[in-house]
Amino acid sequence: MSNESLYISFGPVQSYVSEARTTRDLWAGSSLLALLAESALRAAAGAGAEPVSPLLPSSSPDSPLSGHASVPNVMQLDCKSLDPQTVASVMIDRWNSLWRGVCDEARQLLERASPQFNNYARSIWDRQQNGLWYCVWVTGAYDNLRARKSIRQFNTSPEQGWKCSVCGSRQAIALNEGTRRDMKDFWQGISTTLPSRVRVREEERLCAICFTKRALSELVSKGKPKELSRLQAESFPSTVDFAAVTWLKEVVHSHDTATIHAAKRMLESLRACKANRVKALTISLGWGVLAPDLQHLLDFSSDYYYSASYATRRLQDHEDADRKTLRNSQKALQEAAKKAGILGPSSYCAVLLMDGDNMGKILSENERHKSDISKALNDFADTTHSIVESMSGQVVYAGGDDLLAFLPLGTVLDAALELRIAYASAMSSIGFQNIRPTISAGITLANTTAPLRQVVTHTHHLLDDVAKEHRDAQTKTMKDAFAVQVWNRSGPGIRLVRRWDSTGNISCIKTLRGLIDAAQGRSAPPLTSGFLYKTSELFEEFGGGTGVIESLLFAEYFASRTEGVKKLKETEQGRAAVRELIDRLLKASRREDLTNQEYDKNTPLMIRFMASGGVNE
Ligand SMILES: [Zn+2]
Repeated sequence: MSNESLYISFGPVQSYVSEARTTRDLWAGSSLLALLAESALRAAAGAGAEPVSPLLPSSSPDSPLSGHASVPNVMQLDCKSLDPQTVASVMIDRWNSLWRGVCDEARQLLERASPQFNNYARSIWDRQQNGLWYCVWVTGAYDNLRARKSIRQFNTSPEQGWKCSVCGSRQAIALNEGTRRDMKDFWQGISTTLPSRVRVREEERLCAICFTKRALSELVSKGKPKELSRLQAESFPSTVDFAAVTWLKEVVHSHDTATIHAAKRMLESLRACKANRVKALTISLGWGVLAPDLQHLLDFSSDYYYSASYATRRLQDHEDADRKTLRNSQKALQEAAKKAGILGPSSYCAVLLMDGDNMGKILSENERHKSDISKALNDFADTTHSIVESMSGQVVYAGGDDLLAFLPLGTVLDAALELRIAYASAMSSIGFQNIRPTISAGITLANTTAPLRQVVTHTHHLLDDVAKEHRDAQTKTMKDAFAVQVWNRSGPGIRLVRRWDSTGNISCIKTLRGLIDAAQGRSAPPLTSGFLYKTSELFEEFGGGTGVIESLLFAEYFASRTEGVKKLKETEQGRAAVRELIDRLLKASRREDLTNQEYDKNTPLMIRFMASGGVNE
């Protein structure tokens, strides 16, 4: 037996990662998964096999897990002279022993927090710990694995009893089969005795898997088991932090004396009251910032910048007096900023998922380029962090051709476009025959109150079933697209799906960006909220472009009685500018999936929403 290829896949990746109530849970799940995968790969390399995809980082096994170590769906190895079954066993053993080590430490936290932890609780714990992972592996060709993977795995032991409040599918750890009350008492009790980093809320009740994720920060900080010291203990920003960052940036850049004064007082209050800190998001500081110290507002949880947080139990860790001080500072800052024309902080953040198109086909048809492809994908994964962070976002995972990131509403489209360019550039060095590697994106613009697990699952749906299934009726091409949808307080709302480049190589995102700028009054002539709403109605009423729609929109635009519009109407130049604006709006709104000229009523509404910044207050 010589040089056989082994394809090995551990799962469930997607559901394991997305079972999360907070971005911190998400980050913990994917970090742990990346560590498990990398350790399994290292074990195989240690036994004499050679990882082909992903490549093993050259750093030592004790150094921090590198940025592109991530969650590969499939790992490919060259078995050299080894029996593939031996290589697979080495990897599975390593995966299981590390997982067991982490779970043992997490369970001990629970046992220390609750002396009542008994055999019944232990039996639930063990069943869940041992029943989570599956592994499939094949030798030979990649297609064999796909055939194997299409066999659905069923969890053999159905879960009984009260369910975990995070995943909703596994039983919550409990002391007996008793009542809901018993279980609530158990969890309420330990929410106060667990280390503060574990942060289980009073009303939560968790299964072994979700608890282990929740405990990860604590275990990492203690280096238990020692392999975890390769991860970083710092916490991940919350959805609220991503929502508020655009507003904070405007506050930091303000030249209004009252706003700066109020912001300084806010910062003093946060420091004095020992407010909760978070990993600060990056904002670019432009020239002429009057009080650079104000960027430290980003070091604190953004919950403090919303009046709604003070009405909920979110800031309950603080004494009443401190909470009052913080509340007063927040109120003063919000009022001063509003007077200076800075609208309140947004209630929305963006979830971005991206994934290379036709990756299986590309890999199986380009056998000889395999290690070049792995290297190009590593290069891409490395650049994703700097692109996303430069736009005030954070990557949850980026590995292979896969990416999950959180961003503010205002930068997510530009970030997606930059990432698409980076992907194309990383892959351009490889001489592919007959195929142009492309990438697609799913984006959910989610209200920060929306349930995170559902939002992430929905974003997978937007990527896999909407963007990747999108078909241009004229060019007959598929994929190479992005799908974006709003998720407001009542669930999924308006949606837009487009190819990155519409016919004639015009960047769709650049067109949208120009229109959003016009709707924000940053460029002339402006697009008013009322006009965009009316445009959507006209699209619905007249649907197909019969030539009449342009004249209707033109007349509608000038129906506004504002001074600015009147002035535009008076000159030929002004009228031409409006005609050009309407032309761009029509181009951006054209339905690509239909051959006849028809306009999508959601596009003007999406532009209107993006321009509003999702500000409620
Ligand atoms: Zn759970």
